[in-house]
Amino acid sequence: MTGEEMHALVERLYPICRSITGDGVRRTLEIVGEHLPLDVHEVPTGTPVLDWAVPKEWNIHDAYIKDPSGRRVVDFRRLNLHVVGYSVPVRGTYTLEELRPRLHTLPDQPGLVPYRTSYYSETWGFCLSQKTLDGLDEGPYEVLIDSTLADGHLTYAEHVVHGDSDEEVLISCHVCHPSLANDNLAGIAVAVALAARLESPRFTYRFVFAPGTIGAITWLARNRDRVGRIRAGLTLACAGDPGPLTYKRSRRGDAGIDRVLAHVLAGRPHTILDFSPYGYDERQYCSPGFDLPVGSLTRTPYAGYPEYHTSGDHPGFVTAEAMTETLEVLREAVRVLERDARYRNLSPYGEPQLGRRGLYGSLGGRSDTQEAQLAMLWVLNQSDGGHSLLDVAERSGLPFDAVAEAAAALEAAGLLEREGS
Ligand code: ZN
Repeated sequence: MTGEEMHALVERLYPICRSITGDGVRRTLEIVGEHLPLDVHEVPTGTPVLDWAVPKEWNIHDAYIKDPSGRRVVDFRRLNLHVVGYSVPVRGTYTLEELRPRLHTLPDQPGLVPYRTSYYSETWGFCLSQKTLDGLDEGPYEVLIDSTLADGHLTYAEHVVHGDSDEEVLISCHVCHPSLANDNLAGIAVAVALAARLESPRFTYRFVFAPGTIGAITWLARNRDRVGRIRAGLTLACAGDPGPLTYKRSRRGDAGIDRVLAHVLAGRPHTILDFSPYGYDERQYCSPGFDLPVGSLTRTPYAGYPEYHTSGDHPGFVTAEAMTETLEVLREAVRVLERDARYRNLSPYGEPQLGRRGLYGSLGGRSDTQEAQLAMLWVLNQSDGGHSLLDVAERSGLPFDAVAEAAAALEAAGLLEREGS
């Protein structure tokens, strides 16, 4: 997928009213399913999941606030952020003063509509811009929220690319936000693009598309006996804003994925943050009982940009270029995960003669010759069975790909032998 195709997917998913349950998630997964085969799971309301229970399913058809002339001054059909997520149904007539406690605005960003939810306490409300609110007179207003909150299901999906190994790489995206583009339609689009290009990998790649918090908790509850297979993982969110990339380390701080992302991001503008129990579903994957090697990749991090959780996070805020760069970094990370291994130098007494084997100057004239030869010397020197290629790349300052190419050439020449991974 090109950056433009990822952006088109964001635009297509944007109008759908998603929440932690309901038809918006199902429709989203149907569209993702046009790109990737998905296993869709439906978990009934009330199912115990870790310390939680699957909530009632919420769906919404329409909602508005109409002024005395019948004009919709707040209209769910124009922007689904206008309704507080999980609002219970309402129909009635209210003055502005009666409505006020249920109206949410952003006084400091008067042109933007906030995103609000109330999943776990039953209430209702509307979100609107401060500008719109300031223009309202006393009313009365006709108010409708045509929603249902009833026993149903929580929906999540998985896409699995089977590798030679049962060890897994987990990529997790939340799919519960309504019309917000960077958080997290861009993450979904980049995950789809990454999944589409994985062919015959060494590890098994599991993509989880689940509602935030309760979806990850549900997935963990249902996969408790197999999370030990996870060798590396990432939550992927905010993948399309123009800010530089940010990697937040796993709770362990020194997991393989933490080293891989640090290496791949070096040389690009980026930030690396230590783990904190705040943010996306790494909070669940890195809860102490699981403590999985799962970090978080974003561009500008969680809650770190003014458009975050507002109507300013629309498809115009995310760019094809930013999503393309996020995808490139993920592909590089996959290459490191796939190719990293420990080797043993089979001719460790003095340097082996590379020229005789066609390895010295074999790339003569190319601008990367010097780098390739330096990589061979580093790989030969460090391959005592104890150092991985990523160790070599880190110590030498060479790109991982150059180190891996050198190892492949040396192995082909019979100078290196791969150790068990
Ligand atoms: Zn969010």
